[in-house]
Amino acid sequence: MPELPEVETVCRGLAPVLEGRKFVRVVARRPDLRFPLPDGFGQRLTGRRIEAVRRRAKFMLVELDNTDVMIGHLGMSGRFRVYEDNPPPEDAHDHVIFKTDAGVVIRYNDPRRFGFLDLTDRPSLAGNKFLANLGPEPLDSTFTPEVLAERLKGKAAPLKAALLDQRVVAGLGNIYVCEALHMSGLSPKRKAHTVGPARANALVDAIKTVLTHAILSGGSSLKDHRQTNGELGYFQQAFRIYGREDKACKRCGSAHPVKRLIQSGRSTFYCPHCQR
Ligand code: ZN
Repeated sequence: MPELPEVETVCRGLAPVLEGRKFVRVVARRPDLRFPLPDGFGQRLTGRRIEAVRRRAKFMLVELDNTDVMIGHLGMSGRFRVYEDNPPPEDAHDHVIFKTDAGVVIRYNDPRRFGFLDLTDRPSLAGNKFLANLGPEPLDSTFTPEVLAERLKGKAAPLKAALLDQRVVAGLGNIYVCEALHMSGLSPKRKAHTVGPARANALVDAIKTVLTHAILSGGSSLKDHRQTNGELGYFQQAFRIYGREDKACKRCGSAHPVKRLIQSGRSTFYCPHCQR
């Protein structure tokens, strides 16, 4: 499932081919993804110039010259493919086709269709149902240890669950929460309200570090992908704790194997020895 770094990579990959360009043709090949596409979706986008492609949490926002904004979410398996020339025949899961005035074709492909595309306008964006209750953006300077500690105050939930709550901090998913907790030496089982200033400091630092590192590795794989099939959205990377059950902890050494436990139906990977 794409997390914040993947969505950031998609936005960074799409920005150079979209920003300043016009959509000359937008075709939806089916009426719905996870939700029905808005009425007149293709017509509303056709002829519009793209001003900016940016990200908020795990949502991509494509801002148009008439103040309309296309909101996109990749769901479980959504991806964009960019073809600068000679696109191959469409496959069954190419659901929406965009063409720009530079002749670039971009396809939204989503086999499982948990992703969605929606249209709103800039004045309504802050109150949009997907965006209205999101917490701070983790890579913004406004996401500080004080802000995090304040948001965890009074919460008896396990720290892992609190960090997955998009109202506490926006855009974090299962993998990067595991990675950040490991890097900061905090147990996923610790009660969220026990994170005071010092621990919040370590945790905010770890969250920013793991996300920044992932975006950088996504950026380098993006270059390779663009050279081969133009696909945006997924990249391989080495995790320090995620998926490493029974292997040696990379923080404290070989005597302490990584454990897996299930929290809120999701796998948590952690080291009981050095995460307290
Ligand atoms: Zn350890």
